[in-house]
Amino acid sequence: MIPIQKLLSSLERFQEKIIENNSQIDQIEKRINQLKKQLEEIKDKVQKKKDEKMKIEVQIKETELMIKEEEEKIRKWEIQLRESRKFREQKTLIDEIAEAKREKSKLEDEALKLIIKKEEIEKELKDLEEEYEEKQKRAEEEIPKLELELQRLKTESEENHQKIKEIEKNIKEFYPEVSKIYEELLKDSRNSNMKIIASIEDESCSSCNVIVFADIRAKLYADPNSFDTCPNCGAILYVKVEEDSE
Ligand SMILES: [Zn+2]
Repeated sequence: MIPIQKLLSSLERFQEKIIENNSQIDQIEKRINQLKKQLEEIKDKVQKKKDEKMKIEVQIKETELMIKEEEEKIRKWEIQLRESRKFREQKTLIDEIAEAKREKSKLEDEALKLIIKKEEIEKELKDLEEEYEEKQKRAEEEIPKLELELQRLKTESEENHQKIKEIEKNIKEFYPEVSKIYEELLKDSRNSNMKIIASIEDESCSSCNVIVFADIRAKLYADPNSFDTCPNCGAILYVKVEEDSE
């Protein structure tokens, strides 16, 4: 028969391992999500930049078309001017040609500005695409490793839960009175952070930090088959036993 003190000691050890495992699992899951989110964000930025580029290309085409229209007007009016013999008609045509040339020049300035803007956008797009590639590469390297580690931790956690069940079974079989208190405490602890099993550290209960009476301590130290609860918080007390059996 395994001493109850030893069973309680292992029980708490496995519970601590589970808590530690869960916190590691939590951290890894956060990191995976962070990597995926970063990738999504940069992908979004690339798409927006591509849309911006497309929009400006359409603007450039439209402006070029407008320039062509002005050129055609100028050509047409210059022919009319050469053929015209009427002074007033000539005067009107000259004015119209001048106006069209001004308009054409304005459009050419606009087109030039748009082309410069387009080049800037293309450069920004290239930088974003490089950043995306780099982030994607990093995620592709890191995520499978993290997922493997996650799997390992989950398996370990599962094993620790299994071990706890075995210990609980042992306690139930050999120390039914402890098992009864344990199950009661377990029910009560669902809604609080209180510890069900607490070791004695520096003469105090490790759950509530209140000093445990000397006679209780003496009993637990003297007899590994004895048990007691903390008079203050009710946790099942144990003294730490050498961890020689895994
Ligand atoms: Zn206590």
